[in-house]
This record gives sequence, C-alpha cells and structure tokens, in this order.
Amino acid sequence: MDRVKLATLWLGGCSGCHMSFLDLDEWLVELAARADVVFSPVVDIKQYPEQVDVALIEGAVCNEEHLEIVRRVRARTRIVVSFGDCAVTGNVTAMRNVLGKAEPVLQRAYLEAADEHPQIPAEPGIVPPLLDRVVPVHAVIPVDHYLPGCPPPADRIRALLEALLDGREPGLTGEQIKFG
Ligand code: SF4
Repeated sequence: MDRVKLATLWLGGCSGCHMSFLDLDEWLVELAARADVVFSPVVDIKQYPEQVDVALIEGAVCNEEHLEIVRRVRARTRIVVSFGDCAVTGNVTAMRNVLGKAEPVLQRAYLEAADEHPQIPAEPGIVPPLLDRVVPVHAVIPVDHYLPGCPPPADRIRALLEALLDGREPGLTGEQIKFG
C-alpha cells in the first residue's frame, strides 16, 4: 500500500483508547513514515475528508451528531475499525441504557444531581440531542474489523495497524481479542 490515509474518531468514549494509541511511542515515528493522519482529535482538521483508507472509531454512538459522523465515515472510508470496547459493545458508555430513554438520563444528571442552577443543556445546532439508547458502531454502519479492550493495549493496536498497512487481514487471536 502507498501512503495510507489514516483517521481516528472520538465518539462516546473517555479518550482512553486514544491515550493507548499515543502509547505506541516510538512506533508512531514508523507509522508517520507510512501514513498521513487526515482526521483525528489530535490534529486540527475540521472536515472528514474523502477517500480515507483506515478509520479507527473510539466510543459508542450516543447522539445524533455521532450518527451523522459514522455514516459519513462509512461512506468515505475503505476500512472501518471499531476501536475499543465502547465502540465494539457500548461498554461503559451504554450503562445509561438501564434508565430506558434519554429523558431520565438528562433529568438525573442535570436536574436531580445539580447543586446549583439545574438546567438541561439545549442549544439547537450546538448541543446534539442524545439518542434514547447508546449503541455500538456496528449497530449503525458495517464495520470491517474489531479491536477490543478497555482500552486496547498499544501492542494490540500496533498488530492491527501493521497488518492493515501491509495489506494483510489482522487475524487477531488469543490475548489480542480480550475485552476489558
Ligand atoms: S473502551 Fe475503555 S478506554 Fe476506550 S473509550 Fe471506552 S471506557 Fe474509555
């Protein structure tokens, strides 16, 4: 593969998966020799570009903005990876599903638990409405590969990226497919 256009996205997650990505340490220099980061929370690019080769999506799909983003990513990306347990299963982010819908979650967080000025944030076009249920990425778009772990350790991320850069199937097995 020529230089790879790589994207990373941060949806409903804690950013721990991106922290683990940064734990690739010196291998990031090797990665930079083979890939261009064309969209990511760690670079200042506002629009998701066309013809991306690989996208790592951290986090579950929690709000309407996430829905829009993952659909755009799928339309513009050759290989989509669910990056971390929240993307793969919903994980911690989906714990709010036990409350049933978005409304009781907002009530609990912003009204009942507020010490001062209880108010549910609402600003059309700025604060995206929550979905009633948090769902994993593959519930919205087809996903090509899954990278479990909370977060996936750096050597697991490296194994997947090396395979994709070499045009091989990642074929992760054993410890590489552990959750948590
Ligand atoms: S999988 Fe774990 S580390 Fe990654 S976003 Fe979810 S909670 Fe954070």
